Amino acid sequence: MTARALPIADAPAAAPAGGGGCHGGRDTMLAAAEANGKSALLEGLARDYPRGPHDQPQSMCPAFGSLRVGLRMKRTATILSGSACCVYGLTFTSHFYGARRTVGYVPFSSETLVTGQLFEDIRDAVFQTADPALYDAVVVTNLCVPTASGVPLDLLPDQIDGVRIIGIDVPGFGVPTHAEAKDVLAGAMLKVARGEAAQGPVARPGSAITDRPTVTLLGELFPADPMGIAMLLEPLGLAAGPTVPCREWREQYAALASPVVAALHPFYTASVREFQAAGRTIVPSGPVGVEGTAAWLDAIGAAAGIAADTVGAAKDRLLPMIAAGIAKHPITGRITVSGYEGSELLVARLLVEAGADVPYVGTACPRTPWSAPDREWLEARGTEVRYRASLEADISAIEAYEPDLAIGTTPVVQAAKERGTPGVYFTNLISARPLFGVPGAGALAATVNGAIGGAERLTRMRTFFEGVGVGAGTGYGHAGVPEDRPVTSWKPARKAASKDGTMTDVGGS
Ligand code: SF4
Repeated sequence: MTARALPIADAPAAAPAGGGGCHGGRDTMLAAAEANGKSALLEGLARDYPRGPHDQPQSMCPAFGSLRVGLRMKRTATILSGSACCVYGLTFTSHFYGARRTVGYVPFSSETLVTGQLFEDIRDAVFQTADPALYDAVVVTNLCVPTASGVPLDLLPDQIDGVRIIGIDVPGFGVPTHAEAKDVLAGAMLKVARGEAAQGPVARPGSAITDRPTVTLLGELFPADPMGIAMLLEPLGLAAGPTVPCREWREQYAALASPVVAALHPFYTASVREFQAAGRTIVPSGPVGVEGTAAWLDAIGAAAGIAADTVGAAKDRLLPMIAAGIAKHPITGRITVSGYEGSELLVARLLVEAGADVPYVGTACPRTPWSAPDREWLEARGTEVRYRASLEADISAIEAYEPDLAIGTTPVVQAAKERGTPGVYFTNLISARPLFGVPGAGALAATVNGAIGGAERLTRMRTFFEGVGVGAGTGYGHAGVPEDRPVTSWKPARKAASKDGTMTDVGGS
């Protein structure tokens, strides 16, 4: 342990200690964060992750994205600083998804927040955690209230006994989706790793070493996808490099060393910045279907300096296999696609190649150059592509296009099923299948066709539940759906206590 110093000179401006980040207090939190010295941070977040029609997260708490990235890394400790309710939700979700890791928590009160003691408590926690026998890195995350209060994680030491200390702010009022929060941490780690690599020799990656030039894969992928991509790269004389976000610290050096980076998920703006600073070439889109794979192989070949006839020979060998896979598993029907994973456009391309009519793709992620080829390809085939799509837009698309199947997030699927339209969860069912190369061809067909075939079952269910309450009356049976009354007609039956302790008769029945 080293001597500590109190770094916070001024008491921070008031931020709602109980929260407010994702339930209506955004303006207050933003004003507090700016008053507390976080203007540059907020400007950076707004530049990297521009907001859209919805300026609040419409999915889970964004910090879950960065939390998950840290929890999946070997020898990495995670500490959260935020309201207890936020931390409860985040740890619950982490363990629901099988984290099997401890999540550290530094609680606060109004007093520790205002006096600056919270920073001291975080600093203590970091020093207690940073054991080089156990960890390569400790990730500390400021959630909404500590960010708004200006808790200065940048004043934490860069490393303690060789353990890197990575402090990040992931406020819901600055990072629109949990997808982009993954990039906040991935980018912060790559920045540190790049600085280390620039200073001298670094550790060799623990994963397989290849003497071929590699292509780093950017995005959290289905486990079989890197193998499918490696199969595409092999005839070009290339190999699949690490997948970013990485699973251990030293993989990042190998990721940065790849001459080419495939931005398979297009929202990793901060990570791309680090790769570009290292002089790497970024390739957009991904190898989906016949046309997507052909274009991607051309782009990878050009970026890696592979001779055109070598790329041509690879395409001659690989594309017929993909075409055969798709032909064997055709998809018929109209399908709307929406989600927050970043791969929505790629999934839509594969569906279209398999024969589906896809009139609408909505993604919660922003428009970046890395999905431009997919947007252009889809729009040329009449698909409406909406970036930063709101939940309302996704549901409106179902009403407007009357699809045979809606692929989407939980509330979108729920809305579809309520109107008798089959729905499939993007995250649980579509992202849990290979998407790229030969294994991806035809992988979606069984799920998609099976769901479309379930339409009749949904009609029967709707008939069975006819007359049962919906909305506020949900859950009431045929015996009597409560009458929907305007809220203003309600009066409390009991007396209410005023602030000075006297009782007031507020009427009511
Ligand atoms: S940390 Fe997450 S759950 Fe908590 S207020 Fe912010 S956005 Fe909401």
